[in-house]
Amino acid sequence: MGDGSKELTHPLIVDGWFREVSDEYFPGQAFMLKVEKILHAEKSQFQDILVFKSTDFGNVLVLDGIIQVTERDEFAYQEMITHVPLFGHPNPKKVLVIGGGDGGVLREVVKHDCVESATLVEIDDMVIKLSKKYLPNMAKSYTHEKVQVFLQDGFKFLKDCESRLDQDKYDVIITDSSDPDGPAEAFFQQAYFKLLFNALNKDGIVISMASENIWLNINNLKKLKDVCQTVFPVVKTCYCTMPTYTSGQISLMCCGKNADIDVAKPSRKLSAKKERELFRYYNSEIHSASFVLPTWAAQILDDN
Ligand code: SAM
Repeated sequence: MGDGSKELTHPLIVDGWFREVSDEYFPGQAFMLKVEKILHAEKSQFQDILVFKSTDFGNVLVLDGIIQVTERDEFAYQEMITHVPLFGHPNPKKVLVIGGGDGGVLREVVKHDCVESATLVEIDDMVIKLSKKYLPNMAKSYTHEKVQVFLQDGFKFLKDCESRLDQDKYDVIITDSSDPDGPAEAFFQQAYFKLLFNALNKDGIVISMASENIWLNINNLKKLKDVCQTVFPVVKTCYCTMPTYTSGQISLMCCGKNADIDVAKPSRKLSAKKERELFRYYNSEIHSASFVLPTWAAQILDDN
């Protein structure tokens, strides 16, 4: 099916409801959004793409059956995955985003005046094209003067960087990828975190979409944390809440290269007034609070 179809015929849409059915949920659990119309559905070279207009969450991007963003609540995730590492860093100038084709993370990165360049490496051009068309508030920074885009596999991009590291070290790297079952599989393995470590400046910070919810799959989160700890001296888990990610909570893995920088504390702060002008979810207090986990979860994640 191409552009413009108004019919609600799609294997993931039943009786007018988009159904996210995934092994990530508990058995007997799923998530649904009511569909107004299908805007685009096709299989790209890398994944199944669906964009639909929902009745109450605005336009929605779905990759391989999993909701990536909705216009209603995307700001929560985009702000936290961006501003936690950027305010955690004392002076971030060069920022790399791996994935993130909807453009929402770029939109947040360029809010920082100190950032001199924001590079995005997205594997699937189709995601960028469709986001520009159907998610314009997310994709609006593609034309920003500090932004450059590479259409490439993020793992390969970092591997190629190893040979030219003098020019290409980054202060912050954000992995805004899709889930591990697909083109993003490599982003959850030790080899990737080693590449990230080598691509960072000495005070560098990385944050990765961990794709895990503490209620549903904390053991996978623990495994990912253990992998990160074999590479980085600082590894901490934070999270954000939002209705359209699996069970309403998504964890982010934040790693630092400099043991003296506590990523859970902002190194820089804006005034409360400025924060409210720029952000709808992030503020310096939620930065620290997002690293505080419920006792049972902290016990599992912090036990070595
Ligand atoms: N915020 C979203 C979430 O948590 O579900 C992710 C948003 S963004 C749309 C994810 C992007 O990662 C997709 O556009 C996908 O094409 C991209 N991606 C997946 N594997 C990739 C790879 N190996 N290299 C670069 N980009 C990749």
